[in-house]
Amino acid sequence: MNSNQQIRKQFDQYFIPNYNPMPVVPNTAKGSKVWDLDGKEYLDFASGIAVSVLGHRHPKLVQALTEQSQKLWHSSNFFTNQPATQLAQKLCELTFAENVFFANSGLEANEAALKLAFKYAEQQGQNKPEILAFENAFHGRSWLTTSISSNKHALKIGSDFNVRRADFNSIQSVKKLISDQTCAVIIEPVQGEGGVRPADQAFLQALKELCVQHQALLIFDEVQTGVGRTTKLYAYQYYGVTPDILTSGKALGGGFPLSAVLTTQKIGAALAAGSHGSTFGGNPLACAVGLEVLKEVSAPSFLPSVSERQVVFWQGLQRLQQSTSVFKALRGLGFLVGLEFQPAFAGQAANFMRLALTQGLMLLVAGPNVVRLAPALNISAADLQTGLELLEQTIQLFSENQ
Ligand SMILES: *Cc1c(COP(=O)(O)O)cnc(C)c1O
Repeated sequence: MNSNQQIRKQFDQYFIPNYNPMPVVPNTAKGSKVWDLDGKEYLDFASGIAVSVLGHRHPKLVQALTEQSQKLWHSSNFFTNQPATQLAQKLCELTFAENVFFANSGLEANEAALKLAFKYAEQQGQNKPEILAFENAFHGRSWLTTSISSNKHALKIGSDFNVRRADFNSIQSVKKLISDQTCAVIIEPVQGEGGVRPADQAFLQALKELCVQHQALLIFDEVQTGVGRTTKLYAYQYYGVTPDILTSGKALGGGFPLSAVLTTQKIGAALAAGSHGSTFGGNPLACAVGLEVLKEVSAPSFLPSVSERQVVFWQGLQRLQQSTSVFKALRGLGFLVGLEFQPAFAGQAANFMRLALTQGLMLLVAGPNVVRLAPALNISAADLQTGLELLEQTIQLFSENQ
């Protein structure tokens, strides 16, 4: 038995079976390359689900983490710390936000965002029991966040949350469901897990206007779209529609668990001292790395170079899509891309992902019918080309096997 097999078998013995990991076990990584326990090399178009935004073990992140690890690991929120305050300042300088709250995962940021919205309504003396969310949404796996995700994620036992689900990109559908009872509208500017579907600019604009009209807070879940993935630091900047609250996660820590809620001072004030918290939120190790991630991604030449390389990426993908009959649609924004299978190959995304691994390519799925690609934003032109070639190889093999 090889090492991959051995560890994978051990997983089955000791883990609650909520995951069904791939047969290969990543062991080391650098930049956009990963090596498994048996020494096989992979080109990474997955980035650990859009997380490793600067690739693996970026020298500046390694340095930031190493330096912080020799100073202070943890102090709790009974104290503040320098990396967290510096990161908060940087986030506010780079966005609409004036105040932030740090947590450790996307769902925690979304929970805090909704709690904040309810507290804010309460403080304003308004009766607003409802949340408006969207079909095919994904906001996390806690009880609340599954309740506001697509029906498929919601727990069968139900919940006490008063959630309505509108159709994504349909302002008519929103108009039917939004009212003065709506406390907050939560939306992903590009639905990630739901199939990599970008919102229309006009839709987000109209949604914002409806929120203003009904005094509902607009929450952008940018856990997946944030930190440069759409070629802007946050997708709201791409769309030119500013939310009241924004959640960021995944890429924010460059691979270290870190998430944040961004908002204005006026709204943020509704979470008064003692009303919310987290043991690890704002952890100095995480924030030291996050600060370095933001410094890199907001450096003047970084996002322009992402814009240039994503054009090459899209051209390559368009050529692949047109030269084969496997995918009917190519969509997304920047370095967040979805390839939807033709109806004949419906349900094949996971099989395609496994096949790609045999060819040395890591990619993602977004539901059963969509292959999702999320390379590191600093991937080299050469690695990008290699990835596209491995993808072409995978498509050929996939077609032959049908
Ligand atoms: C991944 C994701 C989440 C959940 O993040 P976790 O860190 O897994 O809790 C929430 N919203 C969106 C849009 C995501 O992509």
